[in-house]
Amino acid sequence: MAILGLSACGDSAPGPVDPVEPFGSITVQVIAPGVTAYGDITARVVWGEQNLTAAVDANGLAEVMIPEAVSGFGTLTLEPGPNEPMHPGWALMTPGDVSGGTAKIVLAPKNWTIESGDYAGTTVPIDPELAADSRVMPSFWGFYFPYSQDGFVQVVEDNSQWVGEIRSWPEGDFPIQVALDRPGSTGDISAADSVAFWTNIDAMESALGFDAFVPERIENIQILGGTRRPNHGILVQVDSTIPVRAFTRLNQPDPKIYSLSADARSWGGTFVEDLFLISADISYAVMDFDSIGFASDGQLVMHEFMHVLGAGHGCSWGSVQTYCASLVSTTPSAADVAHLAVLSELRQLERANGSRWGVLASIFGHRVVTLGLTPIPELNVLYGPISAPRDFFVAPSSSFLPARAQSPQRTSVPARVRPRRPR
Ligand SMILES: [Zn+2]
Repeated sequence: MAILGLSACGDSAPGPVDPVEPFGSITVQVIAPGVTAYGDITARVVWGEQNLTAAVDANGLAEVMIPEAVSGFGTLTLEPGPNEPMHPGWALMTPGDVSGGTAKIVLAPKNWTIESGDYAGTTVPIDPELAADSRVMPSFWGFYFPYSQDGFVQVVEDNSQWVGEIRSWPEGDFPIQVALDRPGSTGDISAADSVAFWTNIDAMESALGFDAFVPERIENIQILGGTRRPNHGILVQVDSTIPVRAFTRLNQPDPKIYSLSADARSWGGTFVEDLFLISADISYAVMDFDSIGFASDGQLVMHEFMHVLGAGHGCSWGSVQTYCASLVSTTPSAADVAHLAVLSELRQLERANGSRWGVLASIFGHRVVTLGLTPIPELNVLYGPISAPRDFFVAPSSSFLPARAQSPQRTSVPARVRPRRPR
């Protein structure tokens, strides 16, 4: 058909210049929590020598025309003006994304106002970079990186392969059933332990501002075969054999449902070869405490239940998730509550819109556009927690690494989750 069109122009007089068709376009849909009319946001595609922009309209839509053919990877950035309420976004594009449907990008808010609970009315600045700081892995928003460890000091020694697990419970699952699993414990859990435990959960819910958990009798929880685990909900056990004070593990993520696996194994933009990221629902957790006295240690109980809700660790703000001494909080801090709420909100929007890019786009957008950094940290960045974790948190991402990324030494216990004894 193109040949027919050209031949139709073949008359003796000079005709109008034949229009040059662009190679294609990238259509972008911006989604930000609570925003109904979008203002000053520029969508930018950089691909080889091409650097192209389009304005995002009030509905959050933009179409960036791509004049020349592309190969390899390009980048899409969403660049809000300084007065806009959201952070920038950054996403890796492949040629299949050109004229390949709408790229839906969920952007994180710059600030989050807590609606209820102990911090009701408090507005917290949201910092995607700090939330992804993996000083004590995983980061608050669930990132890991390959590292070497000497005592309690971690050094980024190979950033070619990155893993992130962005996890939360579906909104409809709250409150989540929690059973004290006496049949699955190595020691007794007394009525007094139960009271102390639920007193701490109540204090945690007061900080969070919602009813996250509800007690359920173990007899009413469906237990699955194999390794003892619930079909849904949370089992709390005492296991005196664990080498740390507490050990929480979540269900395997189901990447078939909510995978956003951005597998960039041939991307040469920085040092990254493999980015493997999952955005997935949590459906159950099993939590072991090493001692019968766990229930009265409020900080430990709340710390583990923050893991259950999808939070990792952090040394970035005052937190119940930190091991950096001066930052330790005995209950979830306002920054904890707000960053957990944003994590959950972005996942809800990712799920509702079928977006590949949400939490991830916001972390990279903040690093690249706002801070002028590479999307992920350079080599030899040194992270040193002030003290060692007392717990052992497993979000079983290693089983979802691409085959290439599973080196032999990682097939047993991944280095990043090797338990360490407190000093
Ligand atoms: Zn922990």
